[in-house]
Amino acid sequence: MGEVKKEDILDILAGYDKSEITIATLGSHTSLHILQGAKEEGFRTAIVCEKGREVPYDIVNEDVQQQLRDMNAIVVPHGSFVAYAGLDNVEDKFNVPMFGNRDVLRWEAERDKERALLVEGDVRIPFKYNDPSEIDRPVMVKFPGARGGRGYFVASSPEEFDAKIDAMKARGWLDDSDVEAAHIEEYVSGCNYCIHYFYSALDDKVELMGMDTRYESSIDGFVRMPAKDQLDIDLSPSYVVTGNHPAVIRESLLPQVFDIADKLTESAKKLVAPGLNGPFCMQTLVNDNLEVICFEISARTDGGTNTFMDGSPYSYLTYGKPMSMGRRIALEIKNGIERDELEKIIT
Ligand code: AMP
Repeated sequence: MGEVKKEDILDILAGYDKSEITIATLGSHTSLHILQGAKEEGFRTAIVCEKGREVPYDIVNEDVQQQLRDMNAIVVPHGSFVAYAGLDNVEDKFNVPMFGNRDVLRWEAERDKERALLVEGDVRIPFKYNDPSEIDRPVMVKFPGARGGRGYFVASSPEEFDAKIDAMKARGWLDDSDVEAAHIEEYVSGCNYCIHYFYSALDDKVELMGMDTRYESSIDGFVRMPAKDQLDIDLSPSYVVTGNHPAVIRESLLPQVFDIADKLTESAKKLVAPGLNGPFCMQTLVNDNLEVICFEISARTDGGTNTFMDGSPYSYLTYGKPMSMGRRIALEIKNGIERDELEKIIT
């Protein structure tokens, strides 16, 4: 767990007044339902926001940490929290109890580790090419870092790969180290479903919480154009997420939806004990053979959970009342307090 030790976190937790727990997070998109859900379950809430722009979101600042501990805070991580605080800081300097498994955050952030989790679990993933010369069908080329789909491209042959790389280098978008690190994988022609789950470490159970699909620029605007015009303008689309639609998946695919999540939770228990612990998301593409193929995971609450702040069709079937991801997190913390098992869900 980096330099932050679980024993130290449990000591801090032991000093907390359990009747006065605050659920806290960093101001960002998913904080909306994290705090709303915490209120619905009767918790006090706190949010760390920027004051002026000089030190944006400085949640690892010692004073902020002390203030959080003083309010018996349990911090809920999300993508922006990790991005702003920095993974090294979260592992080495953030001495505030956090919900979930702190160690798993590195496993989703590093592509090789993320892939290892999926391979170990035997989840169907896009075929990976080790060298551009092996390209024998359409591939998706991705680059390291938080590019969020910017600069991804599709190629069908080694020659097309080289030509597109040269064009990007000429524009100053890539350097040789980026090209070295390029990740080349099978282009999955299918529909996108980002599936949001909650793994309860208290009950050793995975729940399907909701699904969304992404609205990406410029590809989703580009495909509205007639094919002839697409060819004429010769634009290279990018895949930058600009929004999300709620989705439901064909009912007969649900067994696969549950199966891949069970596999991932088991492999996470093996590779990064105690495992996923809380919200996670599997980003998938469903091809016309009706295979659910996972190309990416988030091991914490994902932005797409905003599509079901008031519950999804799936969380409605489980709970019969509005259940956002934020509320589900708060419910787990509440159960942990009631059963005196908070140490199972806090790091
Ligand atoms: P990512 O940054 O990995 O979330 O990918 C951004 C977007 O690129 C996805 O939402 C998909 O639209 C697309 N994408 C990623 N990987 C693949 C793939 N292997 N095949 C087809 N499209 C992909």
